Amino acid sequence: EVNRTTVNKAYMELKSDGFILSQTGKGTVVQGQISKEMQNRDLFVPRLQWQQLLNHDIYKNDSSLIKKVMNSANEKEMITLAGGFVNASLIDVDQIEKIMNLCFKKYGERLFCASSVFGLYELRELVASRMKQKGINAHINQVIITSGSQQGLEYFTRSLIKPGDMVIVEEPSYLGAIEIFKAYGAQVVGIPIDHEGMRVDILEKYLLKYRPKFIYTIPTYQNPSGVTLSIERRNQLLELAYLYRIPILEDDPYSDIVLEGPKMPALKALDRFGYVTYIGTISKNMFMGLRIGWVISDERLIEAFGSLKQISDLHTNTLGQYLLIELIKNKVLEAHMARLIPIYRHNKKLMVDTIKSYDVPEMAITPSNGGFYIWCRLPQNLNMNEFVQKCSEYKVLIMPGEPFFAGGTVGENYIRINYSAPSDTEIIEGIKRLMHAINAAMKG
Ligand code: PMP
Repeated sequence: EVNRTTVNKAYMELKSDGFILSQTGKGTVVQGQISKEMQNRDLFVPRLQWQQLLNHDIYKNDSSLIKKVMNSANEKEMITLAGGFVNASLIDVDQIEKIMNLCFKKYGERLFCASSVFGLYELRELVASRMKQKGINAHINQVIITSGSQQGLEYFTRSLIKPGDMVIVEEPSYLGAIEIFKAYGAQVVGIPIDHEGMRVDILEKYLLKYRPKFIYTIPTYQNPSGVTLSIERRNQLLELAYLYRIPILEDDPYSDIVLEGPKMPALKALDRFGYVTYIGTISKNMFMGLRIGWVISDERLIEAFGSLKQISDLHTNTLGQYLLIELIKNKVLEAHMARLIPIYRHNKKLMVDTIKSYDVPEMAITPSNGGFYIWCRLPQNLNMNEFVQKCSEYKVLIMPGEPFFAGGTVGENYIRINYSAPSDTEIIEGIKRLMHAINAAMKG
């Protein structure tokens, strides 16, 4: 029961604030116009302090290099050797238009409708059969389609990590993964690599000391270093994982970009006991904008990923999934790769030869057989901050190595440069600018 005086008081207040209008004989009506008084009051409504409202446990990425690179990549006259994309001018748009038209005819309105949280059944089947060619046997219930492999990395982390848990990564490793692990509260420990990939020979010590929740690895043409884990080490890594019951997260975006040497079997293909969760993507084989990746793992984990997808984006975009199905079925993906791999091979050689032609003492390129990157050690005697500054002055964008190291500090000066996206002229001019920046930043 409400007291009459309270009601009267409420009416008085609404009236004085200009929300209602009372006229004798006409009763009281809601006032449409905001009164002058209210307008004045707007001036005194305090602004929301978003910086204080943000959950800083999750939001730790405001200095993210990936974002910065994406932003300045389009600056005028900038030569970017920092990204990890296909050169847009190499995409056969006419061919893709034909496939898109075929999709319109074949699928019609279905292209624009909602689809399963786990992805289109047909695409999951296609992924499973393509993975078979890699020696990975997966039942359809062990496959989920995600919005790029990035989402797979995030779901794996969210499914397993509680704040304070340890994760072991190669050092250096993919900075976009390190950021996810840290964002969800994991403590990231880096294990060094050499020319054969992760130093599995010292891994046991790390496992005993840190008791990690999982091991994250990019075994083939690693980002950023380009190195590939040898077969012996793949088997040793699996044996250690079995011994200490530690799951492995295998991130595999580059293994089809084979430029030299043999094709390596996926860790997942060698795994006899379901310890490896495999993450694949179309981003590096074809193009990134489609945002389609997949995860192959134990059914229980895939189910958990389904629940996460339900709350984050319901499902991967239907149009892109149908397009990918037809790109695969009509062998456009295959043709695209057959056309681009010789270009990457050429680009890489041109970049390496150009760097070597400058003959900078102490500058060293890490050997690699595929993927998108050259991992380069710069002279010790270089002021890294000044070098990064000079690069931006001379309009060449590179990835400084530091953020790829989980601990955030390194004794040596590394950079990652990309050869998949630039043209010949950009490679030659870009490396020239890079050399100017190195010269300008040498100490003493
Ligand atoms: N993992 C690695 C190692 C990568 O290099 C990248 C892209 N730079 C990704 C995952 C994310 O790729 P996407 O989400 O486009 O599949």
